[in-house]
Amino acid sequence: MAKPPIMPTPPLKPATHPLERLPEEWSDVLGAWGEPRYRGAQVFGWIHKRGVFDPAEMKNLPKTLRARLAEEGLSLPVSPVVGPPAGDDTRKVLVTLHDGLSVETVLIPELIRPGEEEELEEGWEPKKRVVTQCVSSQVGCAMGCVFCASGVMGLKRNLSAAEIVGQALAGRAALPEDQRLRNVVLMGMGEPLANYDAVARALMLLTHPDGLGLSWRRVTLSTSGLVPELDRLGRDFGGKVQLAISLHAVDDERRSALMPINRKHALRSLVAALKRYPLPKRRRITIEYTLMAGVNDSLEDARGLVRLLDGVPIKVNLIPMNRIEGSELRAPSAEVVERFREELYSRGAPAFLRTQRGDSLAAACGQLALRGEGRKVKRRPLPKAR
Ligand code: SF4
Repeated sequence: MAKPPIMPTPPLKPATHPLERLPEEWSDVLGAWGEPRYRGAQVFGWIHKRGVFDPAEMKNLPKTLRARLAEEGLSLPVSPVVGPPAGDDTRKVLVTLHDGLSVETVLIPELIRPGEEEELEEGWEPKKRVVTQCVSSQVGCAMGCVFCASGVMGLKRNLSAAEIVGQALAGRAALPEDQRLRNVVLMGMGEPLANYDAVARALMLLTHPDGLGLSWRRVTLSTSGLVPELDRLGRDFGGKVQLAISLHAVDDERRSALMPINRKHALRSLVAALKRYPLPKRRRITIEYTLMAGVNDSLEDARGLVRLLDGVPIKVNLIPMNRIEGSELRAPSAEVVERFREELYSRGAPAFLRTQRGDSLAAACGQLALRGEGRKVKRRPLPKAR
């Protein structure tokens, strides 16, 4: 039997910005300019591997080609402003787009200790701290989840693939010498699967070995559960994309009250889609569960979660609710959170608490919200506790 291809080959819409071109697409462009095709990989490597946008610095290219590239105008399509490191070393990067809108991306350095959840990789440099970057896929979000500041904004627009990858390139450039970008999580502002074409291209760019070269195991897409697009992602990428599912409730009544998308794609169809997802062996789907006091934090909810996802290999990220202005939703007490976690564990569902450092930012979508938006959460009836 033929071996499956190493890189997935999803159907992609044409690139709309030079930063979006894959090496072979660069080869096509350069070929039309009369250049040899191998130059395509060189140009791609300068931009995506080395983060060089000024053709004058692309020393292995002939002068004539550098001049042509300068005419074409290679530049990062986002203007990043890197914030100071927080006490826990996380950094927020405010990214302004060409039309003046902005999104946030967050750099979260983590320490790896042998024997913990993460495995050491070949080539891992013990002195470098690996970094997870949480990137946005849309400005705002149309999904309207009641616990989420991005949902409150509503959708302003989709990001392009260049703007998504531009966040990663800007984030990597902002890292100090002793840190390296290893994980990218599409968990910032927006529902990635509602911007499928741009996200699919961004995934190919982020993981291309001649570029940023992220391992597929290190790229995670977080979704509220758009079932047709989940199926499409599984087909197009053969299950290579790590999945995180924003669940947050275990029955349709409460999930629909918290996450309006559930009215369209109810839990049963979401779980069926997760069972169909061509997950590679020994991988798990991450379940994001924001704990809200009196809403979804009972032991019966924990048991319900395990029952609901029976047959799906999962690990659960528990995220105590981040306060948002105008919302009545609150985090449960630490004791309630711990009891919930233990109940999951005792029923065979590995569960991790995301409260410290930037962890909570990279544990569920919608945890990034632009400061100064000045928008308050609309008063909506809250789902009743069980
Ligand atoms: S939680 Fe995720 S899907 Fe829901 S509104 Fe926020 S960003 Fe959108």
